[in-house]
Amino acid sequence: MEYFEMNNGVRMPMAGIGVFTFTPDEAEASVASALKDGVRLVDTANAYMNERGTARGIEKSGVSREEVFLVTKLWPSVYEKETAVDETLARLNTDHIDLLFLHQPTRNWKAGYRQIEKAVKEGKVRAIGLSNFSIETLKEAFEFAKIQPQMVQVEAHPYYPQTELKALLAEHGMGLMAWYPLGHGDKSLIQEPLFAQLGAKYGKSNAQIILRWHIQAGNVIIPGSRNPEHIRENFDIFDFELTADEMEKIAGLDKNTPYYHGSDELLDRYLAMAMDFNAQP
Ligand code: NAD
Repeated sequence: MEYFEMNNGVRMPMAGIGVFTFTPDEAEASVASALKDGVRLVDTANAYMNERGTARGIEKSGVSREEVFLVTKLWPSVYEKETAVDETLARLNTDHIDLLFLHQPTRNWKAGYRQIEKAVKEGKVRAIGLSNFSIETLKEAFEFAKIQPQMVQVEAHPYYPQTELKALLAEHGMGLMAWYPLGHGDKSLIQEPLFAQLGAKYGKSNAQIILRWHIQAGNVIIPGSRNPEHIRENFDIFDFELTADEMEKIAGLDKNTPYYHGSDELLDRYLAMAMDFNAQP
């Protein structure tokens, strides 16, 4: 495993598992299987409605909570709710969150930011981050912050490497966690002939080449999978290294185009869905 050292000195594993779209039972099973295989980073969110399942997966794995780097995200509907962090801790059955994000730069995100800063001061959260913030809104957050953030979580992969954003993050000593690191499973990305060529050279799958590219580009990755074989494969990327020339060839695939095209209307529709996070099994 390789580690990313954040601008507050906290170290996090660079590869883990994400449980977006997983039912609580699927989150439980995948997290337990991943942790048994050596994974130590888990990414969930209030809005995934599987924080309790994720916590059960950690317990079931037999791996101690202290060994797991647990990441979750506050949903905008609770940015102004004073008990939001404590309720999240209760669902995760833990007394601390290793990295807590604001999930979206909408509604009263500044109130949310003050909440996560308070949670840091109270020792409930070790590091904080911003997910899906644009460059413009991030700059606003840097001005507003009393405690500077450590990470952003955004879509990133070889077709959308976030070059401009990464230059800004470097100025602030911040890290990038890549969501959709495999392009959400899109075949055209995974089946790029370049990855097959490099895979043949290193005895690795196309997905492993993409994930290795992320690591060498400095991105923390949380590929999603319900398949134990894939989970193992996605973690088995620390025994080889792409050359500078190969990294450059992969950089040539940049289309500066995301898969996910968000909009304020779409976000408003999600926000209109009344989600009772505490009602999840
Ligand atoms: P991903 O890029 O990780 O792709 C997952 C897809 O790739 C699945 O279809 C899976 O079956 C397939 N796959 C996984 N491993 C494979 C392998 N070795 N070979 C071939 N196919 C493989 O996309 P994702 O799962 O949607 O995203 C990963 C994580 O990012 C999520 O679980 C979540 O934690 C996070 N995320 C965050 C946000 C956000 O707004 N912050 C948004 C989306 C996702």
